[in-house]
Amino acid sequence: MTERSERTDQHSTNGGGGAVTDQLEDDYDVVVIGGGAAGLSGALMLARMRRSVVVIDAGQPRNAPAEGVHGLLARDGTPPGELLERGRAEVRGYGGHVVNGEVVTVARVADGFAVCLGDRSVRARRLLVTTGLVDELPEIEGLRERWGRDVIHCPYCHGWEVRDQAIGVLGTGPMGVHQALLFRQLSADVTYFSHTTAPTAEQSEELNARGIRMVRGDVTALEIADDRLAGVRLSDGTIVPREIVVVGSRMAARANFLQALGLRPTEHPAGVGEYLPTDATGRTDVPGVWAAGNVTDMTAQVGAAAAAGAAAAAQINADLVAEETRRAVAAYREPFSAETEAQLCEAVTGDRRHGI
Ligand SMILES: Cc1cc2nc3c(=O)[nH]c(=O)nc-3n(C[C@H](O)[C@H](O)[C@H](O)COP(=O)(O)OP(=O)(O)OC[C@H]3O[C@@H](n4cnc5c(N)ncnc54)[C@H](O)[C@@H]3O)c2cc1C
Repeated sequence: MTERSERTDQHSTNGGGGAVTDQLEDDYDVVVIGGGAAGLSGALMLARMRRSVVVIDAGQPRNAPAEGVHGLLARDGTPPGELLERGRAEVRGYGGHVVNGEVVTVARVADGFAVCLGDRSVRARRLLVTTGLVDELPEIEGLRERWGRDVIHCPYCHGWEVRDQAIGVLGTGPMGVHQALLFRQLSADVTYFSHTTAPTAEQSEELNARGIRMVRGDVTALEIADDRLAGVRLSDGTIVPREIVVVGSRMAARANFLQALGLRPTEHPAGVGEYLPTDATGRTDVPGVWAAGNVTDMTAQVGAAAAAGAAAAAQINADLVAEETRRAVAAYREPFSAETEAQLCEAVTGDRRHGI
């Protein structure tokens, strides 16, 4: 535990009575990059373990366009912004910091990492990367503007809300037919638009067998009337009336700022985008760096992202405890070793130690 994590800020308090600490300090046990469900959940665990922790968040959670978070036990339907505000307050309530900002690069320095936000930098002993992903959508007129409203991607997120409606599924990638079959569970009126991804003979049989209509040809635009989706327009001018369009995005992990560490997003074997690989505990290939949530697991919904953030945080805490114990044992055995002297010097003189 560091000095900072024992202290509470006197500036103001949140509604729940916890301390609000939203200023950025120079170094932390853990810097969490990204303040969605995964990052805040990880920070909550770390703050409760009396670790000094800051969440740096650029404020663009993936589900921002959605009205509510669905499928989340005990919080089903909560607006995404409200859920995150509650999470921020909980982290701050235990002395964790949450600041708005975008991390642009991360570099390794002695004993940790320098996390650069452009105009300033913060030191971290460990990093938890929870920056999520970007949904890259096909260039179809009218589609982007309707994303998260009547253009959707996930039956578990929005399926109940669109049940029994006229649903069109756009074939834009390897998961198109699978999506059509999943949405058929929610509505008897599903049309598959082959667009860039024509089904195989076997898939055509599956679609026919499940009563899913198939429309061949390029989709050029979505028809909008009175701020609602009205239909899907094909290149030959045909308009197929639809209330809902389902489209698979190409999912791109937000991780380019890690390049100086040698960490790069990798093409996902399913051909659906790029992710940051980790082991089952969230550990990346670079010692000291963990990742959780959509940046490494594209399929994670909010509950799974939060759980992964918490699990990675526990691993980080255990790693710090192991390091601290190693150092304590060394000092215990050799109170006058070079390392112990160096630690003592650092503790006493800090930045003034140079030249001593
Ligand atoms: C339209 C839509 C609707 C959805 N609906 C549901 C639903 O109903 N139920 C459900 O369970 N799931 C839903 N999801 C999935 C949900 O969005 C994800 O499960 C969840 O957002 C993953 O959380 P995360 O913490 O990994 O990432 P995010 O929530 O995306 O959070 C990542 C955060 O990191 C920040 N960040 C990125 N780069 C940086 C940087 N360099 N520096 C600092 N901060 C950075 C971002 O701005 C963002 O705030 C939906 C997704 C979409 C697209």
